[in-house]
Amino acid sequence: MAFIFQKIIDSILFTLYPNACCVCNKTLYSHKDYLCIPCENSLPYTNHQLESENEVKQVFRGRIQVEFAGAMLMFTKKGVAQKILHEIKYNGRKDMGLYFGKLLGEWLKPVHETQHFDLIIPLPIHKKKQLNRGYNQSELLATEISKILQIPIYHSLVVKHTHTQSQTKKSRINRWKNVESVFLLQNSEKLQDKHILIIDDTITTGATLESIMQEIRVKSPSSKISVATLASSVSF
Ligand SMILES: [Zn+2]
Repeated sequence: MAFIFQKIIDSILFTLYPNACCVCNKTLYSHKDYLCIPCENSLPYTNHQLESENEVKQVFRGRIQVEFAGAMLMFTKKGVAQKILHEIKYNGRKDMGLYFGKLLGEWLKPVHETQHFDLIIPLPIHKKKQLNRGYNQSELLATEISKILQIPIYHSLVVKHTHTQSQTKKSRINRWKNVESVFLLQNSEKLQDKHILIIDDTITTGATLESIMQEIRVKSPSSKISVATLASSVSF
């Protein structure tokens, strides 16, 4: 009886508040929320924003000069960050991209206070992929970060000009070959002497991010470059 009563209450609540937690699927009691309180409290935050030598920064050591590099969440298989990324990238949850962009913007505030970024470049995805998905998830994140840090986004300065195959099934070495010079920087004079913050949804080997950074480094040597991602699955 209690079970049926609970079911009725749940269905009434669902009619009133049709949102569910994006991680555990429990009903949320506000249209504005995306996570229930237990899931919000279990977000696997890193401390990269406070550690100058974190594991994401180490990925680029000896490869390319970066001022700041860090990820907000730690990615684990079947963990909270994986679920969030999946919803944003493959389940059409544009709203979640904006929501987590806000969290990433707040998380980046102390970094911005010391680094003084001038502009944001969201990592471009291939046009075909963007057409299929309807958006670029890095641009969604960047939109909210731009509002919070009050710095502009430079759209379309960098374009991805070859359609790389899916990265997931490739070995580390093949991934490197696969992403070689796929980005093309246009109007590089706009970046001279600027501190650029590159935004991506996740970092694994850092190969894609390094590719875009190399392109900026060659065409605009006076720029400083930093990187922030929503999640990190960097492993050693
Ligand atoms: Zn939840």
